[in-house]
Amino acid sequence: MPLRLEIVTAERVVFSDDVDLVSAPAAEGRIGILPRHEAMLTILLPGEFHYTKDGVSYPFAISGGFMEVLPDRVTVLADTAERGDEIDEARAEEARQRAAARMRDRQSARELMLAEAELRRATVRLQVARLRKGRPNR
Ligand code: ATP
Repeated sequence: MPLRLEIVTAERVVFSDDVDLVSAPAAEGRIGILPRHEAMLTILLPGEFHYTKDGVSYPFAISGGFMEVLPDRVTVLADTAERGDEIDEARAEEARQRAAARMRDRQSARELMLAEAELRRATVRLQVARLRKGRPNR
């Protein structure tokens, strides 16, 4: 049975294809999903999201969202999601430095929270961009 993976944001369909395996940063910990998985709905945290096809693993950076799992389908509704090969590493590095400076200069707990979230997004993007180097693109 094929497993259909759809990754969608408010802006665009980031990915839609049949895959062999999904690995997702769920709130309860990293979970792996094969075809015929039991139905579930879970929150995704900012982190690396992977699918595997024909023995090759492809990474995405996800900034958080929801994931619906059905036996033949995984649907991800993400705040933002980028394929590893579309991440602009220099932009993520700038965002990381900006977030770190904001954390140092913060005026309020809310500003700290926002800066921490920005730092997490940038760090995940950098991790995924570096992981992605030298891999085939889709
Ligand atoms: P920045 O300050 O660089 O915009 P950000 O974390 O504030 O970073 P987001 O609000 O999370 O950016 O994302 C805005 C849009 O830009 C989304 O469509 C996201 O996919 C895209 N995006 C953000 N950073 C990158 C990046 N480094 N490479 C490619 N696309 C990115």
